[in-house]
Amino acid sequence: VRLKNFLRSILPAFLITSLTLVTDDAGAGAAAPQQKTQAPAYYRLMLGAFEVTVLSDGTHPFPDAKVLTTPASRTSPARVNLFRHGSTEANRLLKAADLTVPTEGSIDAFLINTGTKLILIDSGAGSLYGSCCGHLISNLRASGYRPEQIDDIFLTHLHEDHVGGIAPGGTMAFPNAYVYASKADADYWLSDAHERAAPAFLRGQFEGAKRSLITYMRARRFKTFAGAKELYPGVRAIPAPGHTPGHTFYQVESQTKRLLIWGDVVHVAALQFTDPSIGTQYDTDATQAEKTRLKVFREASDDRVLVGAMHVSFPGLGHVSRRGDVYVWIPAEYSARL
Ligand SMILES: [Zn+2]
Ligand SMILES: [Zn+2]
Repeated sequence: VRLKNFLRSILPAFLITSLTLVTDDAGAGAAAPQQKTQAPAYYRLMLGAFEVTVLSDGTHPFPDAKVLTTPASRTSPARVNLFRHGSTEANRLLKAADLTVPTEGSIDAFLINTGTKLILIDSGAGSLYGSCCGHLISNLRASGYRPEQIDDIFLTHLHEDHVGGIAPGGTMAFPNAYVYASKADADYWLSDAHERAAPAFLRGQFEGAKRSLITYMRARRFKTFAGAKELYPGVRAIPAPGHTPGHTFYQVESQTKRLLIWGDVVHVAALQFTDPSIGTQYDTDATQAEKTRLKVFREASDDRVLVGAMHVSFPGLGHVSRRGDVYVWIPAEYSARL
């Protein structure tokens, strides 16, 4: 080191650099500490004149074995646990995809900059899912935006992993935003009577929705809409009930380019594109959710529309393609250019 310092004082820099390769023992062979951190997760594309940024809120071990359901029979609306009653086929599909349970669940949100408005579609889990998630704000900042800049937040539904991010720890994360959800979802999840009548495992979802929305309601910044509606030029709400009473898709359109943003149509891509009858115990009406899933698979594959799916592996952008009796998910090409 002393020799290097002496040489550094008398030689030009480029000579020192080449000398370093010879004299420095701590080179490529030494163990650099592993960083054990992940990169900020945002992904950007242009959709006509709109800029779309997919923001990851995090990933978590999805409780497949506990929550996935399958119809008890072809004729009955009753649902049973998939892994207790239909595990053979499910395990075959997972094995074919080189997966084991629990699968890794992505939680994503979509930021649309129309040029005049900054619209966030869903908000991740905030503080409601623990340390796995709630990374939306840091990824938003890494993507070049600040929470105060968000004008509107359109929610697909009021489950914790979609609404929680608007108010992590009960504090308004987006102080200048108006939050929108369908009236049907607000009427259900904000009702004490519905909470009392719901199964115990849904209690947390009711509480999460109320805790997240309360500050916006007090500030008169929570609004509801009913039915299919253009909420902003180029951004249309489309009712897609079943998973929840007011579950909503958002179709984003600019200069003939279209993006259809799903909420909870698919939780485990490796299973549900092949077998759209598979749902979750969180579906308010599983039979209707299955119908909605089949309808949107068919339409998305017929229209060849670009899909943004909240729980398909980040960034959850792709196309649905029909292959005989089943559907497959074709992830969109990655591009480093806008
Ligand atoms: Zn949900
Ligand atoms: Zn969800």
